[in-house]
Amino acid sequence: MKKTDNSANIKRFYRKRTELFRLIDKIRIWPSRKGVLHGIRSVDKRGDMAIITTHCNETFTIRNSRNSRAARWLRNKWFSSACSVCRVPDWKMEKYASTRFKRHYGSFLMNKSD
Ligand SMILES: [Zn+2]
Repeated sequence: MKKTDNSANIKRFYRKRTELFRLIDKIRIWPSRKGVLHGIRSVDKRGDMAIITTHCNETFTIRNSRNSRAARWLRNKWFSSACSVCRVPDWKMEKYASTRFKRHYGSFLMNKSD
């Protein structure tokens, strides 16, 4: 009889543990170790690994992890600048900036009527 509670929990759990591959498929932005955001041109997935090619022709080999540096940086929006060669368009940066990674998505709905 606690079935509905459980499914709500699974939903929230899933949202905050988005896999890195799903994340980059969606936002098409890659944060380098220097904190520069690159635009992703292509993603070549090979099992648990993927080779990312950016618009400025850099390649990064990544692992599909929820806890990697890149996944954390993307979620927390830690970056110092956008790559001038990739020229990540403003609309994409805005879309990224407005993307929220809420832990408690449900509480957002509850506060709506205030
Ligand atoms: Zn770049």
